[in-house]
Amino acid sequence: MQIFRKYKIPLITLLIFTLVGLILWFFRDIRYFFLFVSIGFLDSSTRIIIGKYPKLRQISRRCLQLVLAGFLFGWLSLYIGVNFQFPEIFFDFSAGIVTGALIQLLVARIILPFFFGNAFCSRACWTGAFFEFINSKTSCKKTPKKRSNIIAWGYLIFLVALSLFVAFFWNPAENLELRRYWIIGENLFIISCGLILTSIWGSRAYCRMLCPFLTISSIIAPYSIFKITPVKAENCNSCNLCNIACPMLIDVMSYVHNKERINERTCLLCERCVSACPKNVLRISDKIPIYYLQE
Ligand code: SF4
Ligand code: SF4
Ligand code: SF4
Repeated sequence: MQIFRKYKIPLITLLIFTLVGLILWFFRDIRYFFLFVSIGFLDSSTRIIIGKYPKLRQISRRCLQLVLAGFLFGWLSLYIGVNFQFPEIFFDFSAGIVTGALIQLLVARIILPFFFGNAFCSRACWTGAFFEFINSKTSCKKTPKKRSNIIAWGYLIFLVALSLFVAFFWNPAENLELRRYWIIGENLFIISCGLILTSIWGSRAYCRMLCPFLTISSIIAPYSIFKITPVKAENCNSCNLCNIACPMLIDVMSYVHNKERINERTCLLCERCVSACPKNVLRISDKIPIYYLQE
């Protein structure tokens, strides 16, 4: 029981990915089983390393991000030609097929968010990895723009309409060569858009304001079991380092002062606030802060 409590997060992660792998093996083929079990194994190993060596939290997460994002984009996307981006869901829908985009939507945006919110964004998304690498809050001189649901949902609806329109005349899902060009063009567009918007709207602007995947998983994220939690809120010295570290501009310190879990739709569970805190106030947990006050 003690060992389960200690390794609860890695065990649950491995279990979820194994179950997803088994289901996809049943409906598709055994390669999906190996793919998902490997992802679960890598993520769980990282969490075990972080549990033992908290100082390696960010370096371990970034290494995981490099391996997963590199594999998904470099190998599966560019080499094999699987498009994981949002419009592909509608290309597939129009062509009557199921590929990586729909599987990614189901696993990373609907199943996982019930457990770990938007954690896919901080561990496997390659555009997110790029934005994290180049992100600079100082590149925006003005006050960062707050997330607007109208902009986020407006962009999502626009993308759906555009994708169905493109699929009607020229569906990249039906031609591997065209799909490769589409994948390269689409990812270049997202990266350029992210760079320009970050300089106007502030940190991680594409992720915070536009990304359709985050718009979808942000519906479920508030109900996620595991969240960033103030486990020693009474130790907080209001140094503001958690707020400075947060790429999504979340007011972490206010949550700590109110002894509440970080219940933000856009939290990526990147744990940068956890690493930045000199008083070890924060941790990923499935318990509410009052539990730790009674300990
Ligand atoms: S918000 Fe979108 S682009 Fe940003 S990390 Fe998440 S999935 Fe990737
Ligand atoms: S609140 Fe913490 S875990 Fe969430 S996005 Fe900000 S830094 Fe990352
Ligand atoms: S970094 Fe830690 S101590 Fe500083 S304000 Fe945030 S929670 Fe409080």
